[in-house]
Amino acid sequence: MLRGKSAIVTGSTSGIGLGIAHSLAEQGANITLNGFGDANEIKQLVASIASKYDVKVSYSAADMSKPDQIEAMVKETTELFGSVDILVNNAGIQHTSPIESFPLDKWEQIIAINLSSNFYAIRAALPQMKLRNWGRIINIASAHGLVASATKAAYVAAKHGVLGLTKTVALETAQTGVTCNAICPGWVLTPLVQKQIDSLAARDNIPMEQAKMKLLGEKQPSQEFATPEQIGGIALFLCSSAADQIRGSSISVDGGWTAQ
Ligand code: NAD
Repeated sequence: MLRGKSAIVTGSTSGIGLGIAHSLAEQGANITLNGFGDANEIKQLVASIASKYDVKVSYSAADMSKPDQIEAMVKETTELFGSVDILVNNAGIQHTSPIESFPLDKWEQIIAINLSSNFYAIRAALPQMKLRNWGRIINIASAHGLVASATKAAYVAAKHGVLGLTKTVALETAQTGVTCNAICPGWVLTPLVQKQIDSLAARDNIPMEQAKMKLLGEKQPSQEFATPEQIGGIALFLCSSAADQIRGSSISVDGGWTAQ
């Protein structure tokens, strides 16, 4: 379905981004991976995705808190593959603290990586998508783009912002072949969430499995984690022609979290 198309997936060295990269590559898209991690492991990841799906894979070390590096990543991918047809804004971080003691640098960092990076990447990639009259912009927001939780001021503000940005870009591209939508996952068991499980286990002095169930029990009625593969499947659906008229939407994959 995506043979000949090229995708950038930010924050794809781990977790949800990596799941999405696999799904797009499986359908034939060339992929630019991005994110932090061990250089050797990233090299192996690039080689393994390329050989598994017979696609071209490159890696950009661009820091999503740096606008010039984001623009360079889009330019490099265009030069390398000939186009950026699919942009998945996925990179994100978390920090929890009551607002009075929320570290100022963490606020700035979360707004930059989880929200502003989406703006810079879309701004850089959209002109060529419009020229070819086809493009898919998929922003990975969160259940926290729709509802809040205590101690997550920066994350919740950033993710609500992502949904606003998604709607605006969808309106600006409404009469083109470019669509812009968001996916709102609930709990997905990735390193980002594992850190929160670790803190819960330490805080309440409970075993890891119990901490996992407690985390799910607080928010996710299905009592099951969503998986990176499932989020990848939804991203793929948004790339299909069935999704041509899905514009400015957010698709929740949250086990019922926001149905409550
Ligand atoms: P993760 O920690 O497994 O992966 C985050 C990725 O972002 C990694 O590849 C990391 O290297 C990269 N990254 C971090 N800072 C970066 C920076 N400055 N520049 C470039 N890359 C950077 O996390 P995840 O759970 O897979 O999260 C991915 C996205 O999904 C995030 O936007 C997150 O907010 C969102 N999300 C996650 C969950 C969940 O339950 N895991 C739920 C809802 C939304």
